[in-house]
Amino acid sequence: MFLNISFYKFFHLQKSQLKKYKEKLLTSAKSLEIKGLFILSTEGLNASFCGPVESVKSFKEICQKIFNQEFFYKDSLSKIKAFKRFSVKIKKEIISLGQTYKTQQKNGHLSPQEWELKLQKKAQILDVRNNYEIRLGHFETASHLNMENFQEFPQKIEKSFLNKEKETLIYCTGGIRCEKAIEVMKNKGFKKVYQLEGGILNYLKYFPHSHFKKDCFIFDHRVALDQNLKVSRNYSLCPHCGQAGDLKIKCQHCSAPCVICSFCEKKFSHYKTCSKNCAYHFKKGHLSKKKNKISALT
Ligand SMILES: [Zn+2]
Ligand SMILES: [Zn+2]
Repeated sequence: MFLNISFYKFFHLQKSQLKKYKEKLLTSAKSLEIKGLFILSTEGLNASFCGPVESVKSFKEICQKIFNQEFFYKDSLSKIKAFKRFSVKIKKEIISLGQTYKTQQKNGHLSPQEWELKLQKKAQILDVRNNYEIRLGHFETASHLNMENFQEFPQKIEKSFLNKEKETLIYCTGGIRCEKAIEVMKNKGFKKVYQLEGGILNYLKYFPHSHFKKDCFIFDHRVALDQNLKVSRNYSLCPHCGQAGDLKIKCQHCSAPCVICSFCEKKFSHYKTCSKNCAYHFKKGHLSKKKNKISALT
């Protein structure tokens, strides 16, 4: 079993120190067989990683020591490795929006318990995630902004039909997008905005099979988690576009059973294949060695 962790924190990191942090993380991750992705910026850090349970425990402590901070970790177990490599990226923002984070304190955060109570009142709910995530599952009655990318948020919220006077509840996967979204909304005149602390991943820990319906899309090899934060059996990573797929097909090239997404299926006939490699050979009209072997035997 692997333990998967995701966490973020907005706090000031000195630009001149970022490379030093990166080196420390790379060294410790290597010795503990930790895989994952860290994004560092002067506004803080955003990270997801996985590894054997004991290694992950040690690595969590190392992270707290390196940054001299306490973190709020969201965790789940899986048989699949969520990441194949470990990398650290130094960027301008830890979540791209085109504007850095200003607030340095709690800003309308609701615990899953408080959120559950608020849902029973008639507040408007806004999902700040992208289209392809929302398709897999969302809070019932939530509206969304039809986004392909979080960077569209400031323009789309401006044009939305949401009532600025009404209480608005916003949520995302792990909470980081809401931290920035809430600032944008308050600047644009929304009076009462609340955010789900720790996002869907934190909510499902306390309230599985409640107001959040179906699966939660995540940005790693597990693709989607179910109500119990286990890898969803409904989806696999589409080999052609890297997004969630649920269409079971037989590869046209090598005949292996595989899963692709419905968008790729409609896009090109050579996408009805199990891998980029098979897509390439099918397009070129090559014969599959594997397929030949099968037919030679029968
Ligand atoms: Zn696809
Ligand atoms: Zn194939």
